[in-house]
Amino acid sequence: MYNLAIYYKNGEGTEKNLEKTFYWYQKAAENGDKEAIHNLAYKYYNGFGTEKNLEKAFYWYQKAAENGDKEAMNSLAICYQNGEGTEKNLEKAFYWYQKAAENENGDKEAMYNLASCYKNGDGTEKNLEKAFYWYQKASENGDKEAMYNLASYYKNGDGTEKNLEKAFYWYQKAAENGIKEAMNNLANQYYNGFGTEKNLEKAFYWYQKAAENGYKKAMHNLANRYYNGFETEKNLEKAFYWYQKAAENGDKEAMHNLAYQYYNGFGTEKNLEKAFYWYQKAAENGNELAMNDLALCYKNGKGIEKNLEKAFYWYQKATENSKMTSKDSNNNKLCKECKQSYINYNWCQKCNTKRFQQNFSKWTSENEFIDKFIQEAQLNAKSNYEVLEWIPYDQLENISYYDKGGFSEIYKAIWLDGPIDSWNCNKQQWNRWKSQIVMRLFLKILIIHQV
Ligand SMILES: [Zn+2]
Repeated sequence: MYNLAIYYKNGEGTEKNLEKTFYWYQKAAENGDKEAIHNLAYKYYNGFGTEKNLEKAFYWYQKAAENGDKEAMNSLAICYQNGEGTEKNLEKAFYWYQKAAENENGDKEAMYNLASCYKNGDGTEKNLEKAFYWYQKASENGDKEAMYNLASYYKNGDGTEKNLEKAFYWYQKAAENGIKEAMNNLANQYYNGFGTEKNLEKAFYWYQKAAENGYKKAMHNLANRYYNGFETEKNLEKAFYWYQKAAENGDKEAMHNLAYQYYNGFGTEKNLEKAFYWYQKAAENGNELAMNDLALCYKNGKGIEKNLEKAFYWYQKATENSKMTSKDSNNNKLCKECKQSYINYNWCQKCNTKRFQQNFSKWTSENEFIDKFIQEAQLNAKSNYEVLEWIPYDQLENISYYDKGGFSEIYKAIWLDGPIDSWNCNKQQWNRWKSQIVMRLFLKILIIHQV
């Protein structure tokens, strides 16, 4: 019966007929033929020769698994992991992956999946050593996804000792097997001389391979190399081509660079509308440089109608953004005076408290309560956002009525110096945000309001 099914499948001695193939698989399966059971499950799972039916696929995979078919065990585990044809059950998925992997001549896919369970803590406790062990097993059995993961474990020292040579070895294996992420990583290894001799030509070769295989970071990388003429001849057309590819794949820096090439007519015809389109895309995706450029487009009416409000909006966005990114990168910096680490963006509370204290005698609101209130805020400020300051009238410009508040009338004005940002060691004075609009309550309680 099983053979009959095969004849129909391959069209040997008869016409190819998937329905009949299926019919005879079913017959054979019902009679306990192991191969047939597996095939039947596979056909139900994928809807080949019959309607897709996950419950039946699950039923037959289970039969096959119980018969010791290790590939079926892996498939059964996948059903459990995804809740296909049965209820999702990560513990059972883990159980069957393990069964299939540990089997004599274990199933390599199951080994890979078992490693992933250990990596993510699915159906078992997270265990990087065991994940490493099974990635290695799967790799040795020729699973290419596992090779890539194994390389990364060696590179980062996850679950094993860091070993750049071995990382290089497995990245190469995975890359040669067509894993695009591995191609990019292999290029990085060559580029930096990690685990192998530095070789810029080979780095370029593998970046190109990765890009051609659709890896977007590599596309961007490759474009940069063509643009700058690094490791290859400068070629603005090719740079344009790869920026475009990367941009279409959602790489925001590439979007910005693509816009720049359109704007200047580099490697393509000058096209301000398209430049605007990509500046906007990049800006909306959070690229700070693009925000500035987009503001310029709006300000000067390039590729879009002049619109000062929108220009202002995007300048503002860019400023906010750069503040956030510098905050991230400044967190581990040390205070230049006391050499202790900043608790916030360029903010040393110890030193700043001292500075504020020394200044207490140099200003007053002429109201004891308000003075105390502001002093306390200054002593406790853990970032520039928490500082209150007394602003003398002569520091305000364009004072105008704004609104009625709960306790008072509120006036709006421009604060010429602007609020404190951070201490400037070289100049021994505060860096300030220039000309901020502030609100001043008539009761002389001051609220700094950054608009
Ligand atoms: Zn300090």
